[in-house]
Amino acid sequence: LLYSPERSGLHVIHIAAEMAPVAKVGGLGDVVTGLGKALQQRGHLVEVILPKYDCMQYELIKDLRVLDVVIESFFDGQLFENRIWTGTVEGLPVYFIEPHHPGNFFWRGQFYGERDDFKRFSFFSRAALELILQAGKKPDIIHCHDWQTAFVAPLYWDLYAPKGLNSARICFTCHNFEYQGTAPAGELGSCGLDVHHLNRPDRMQDNSSHDRVNPIKGAIVFSNIVTTVSPTYAQEVRTAEGGKGLHSTLNTYARKFVGVLNGIDTDAWNPASDTFLKVQYSAFDIDGKAQNKEALKRKLGLSSADVRQPLVGCITRLVPQKGVHLIRHALYRTLELGGQFVLLGSSPVPHIQREFEDIANQFQNHEHARLLLKYDESLSRLIYAASDMLIIPSIFEPCGLTQMIAMRYGTIPIARKTGGLNDSVFDVDDDSVPEEFRNGFTFFSADEQGFNNALERAFSYYRNNGEFWQQLVEKVMKMDFSWNSSAATYEELYEKAVSRARAANRAT
Ligand code: ADP
Repeated sequence: LLYSPERSGLHVIHIAAEMAPVAKVGGLGDVVTGLGKALQQRGHLVEVILPKYDCMQYELIKDLRVLDVVIESFFDGQLFENRIWTGTVEGLPVYFIEPHHPGNFFWRGQFYGERDDFKRFSFFSRAALELILQAGKKPDIIHCHDWQTAFVAPLYWDLYAPKGLNSARICFTCHNFEYQGTAPAGELGSCGLDVHHLNRPDRMQDNSSHDRVNPIKGAIVFSNIVTTVSPTYAQEVRTAEGGKGLHSTLNTYARKFVGVLNGIDTDAWNPASDTFLKVQYSAFDIDGKAQNKEALKRKLGLSSADVRQPLVGCITRLVPQKGVHLIRHALYRTLELGGQFVLLGSSPVPHIQREFEDIANQFQNHEHARLLLKYDESLSRLIYAASDMLIIPSIFEPCGLTQMIAMRYGTIPIARKTGGLNDSVFDVDDDSVPEEFRNGFTFFSADEQGFNNALERAFSYYRNNGEFWQQLVEKVMKMDFSWNSSAATYEELYEKAVSRARAANRAT
């Protein structure tokens, strides 16, 4: 635990609530692993600190073992013991914190959605810093993510830098400004932060409520680097319409705020080696894609009568952000146009889940449509491989990974031009974009007409211009959505922050 090898690269520690594939709810989990691996490959020492959830996929953690140390961390006026486990996930060293707190914080059968999430994750943020301090680690960068670990930024500067843990600069990434984790100001005191000092308009006070604190705002104010997950989304959240109440704060701190487009883990998402598929395939040998389409139809009981019938997929959390009304509309419009439709999605919102369960029941024996209302990664892989098109009609989309995964599997995205979709999907008919970047079908207005236009153009190309479609499939499969260029951008941001810190230290 005490050993940190000497090396020339940076020492980066991610403190996060998710990490794919062991503890993944959405894109955040993919980013921690994908960015971490890419930076490790570039010669940096990357470590991750996660809660030790009961519901993790333990079989995917290598060499999991408990360490012979106990870390005590402060909460609600007293010290609690934490057991520390280590293991390797996708080649990255990970520390898992298991609190011995009567609240059984990470023993709930789910990652989020508990009434005491603010408590659970403020406890975890503090325990993670305590682990770094007591282990004697001297990271260059501590990278925290989303509101769950946003507490790390004020905790670091207010409590841990004075204790001597001052080697690091803090990088905070917000993966979605919709989720800010605000709470009554008094709750902040539990993890040892000073409520009076922080519940001020220029610090952690929520911009729309004077007696609430906002962890995301705190991280924007207290971090050295603030990023979000695409350049377009970074612009959108600086406007009153898109900022979810934080646009003024982001504008104040615009100089340290950057949008960096996420990549995808191209080893984990690779149709040439994906063992879940019926047949592996690549851009140089795409016949296998048709066989996967056939296999999925058989598995789901869809008609296989017409091999040239377009198959439209949708893989998503069913939440308002994702344009649920357009997803529902897409099902009916696809059938009207003579296509087939498969939805894989689940919803944390009870009325949306119920609505889609009703629709799923109506279509349970339909020859051309199937709705699967669950989270199932192996099935998602079959759908990415089998589909001809994937719809992503989001109302807003910080980055979005499904359009990139789809393209890796030769599936053409039909996406609304917002956030990261605007930075990664370019319409085949858009002459203002160089031909080599055009890779899908896009629309602007979040209504049925807008969506129909894109879907109908896609169907028309698919049916009337098979050669064009085949070339488009090969082209999108060869596009580079790996972490390489984004990891290089993060590396640059980290290095600049570290050299500024060194220059400041030399000056004092
Ligand atoms: P978000 O993080 O907002 O959910 P992203 O597009 O950034 O959206 O990431 C979604 C990730 O979750 C992708 O890897 C996608 O394949 C996966 N995913 C979403 N819904 C499901 C589901 N029902 N089953 C399996 N995987 C899913």
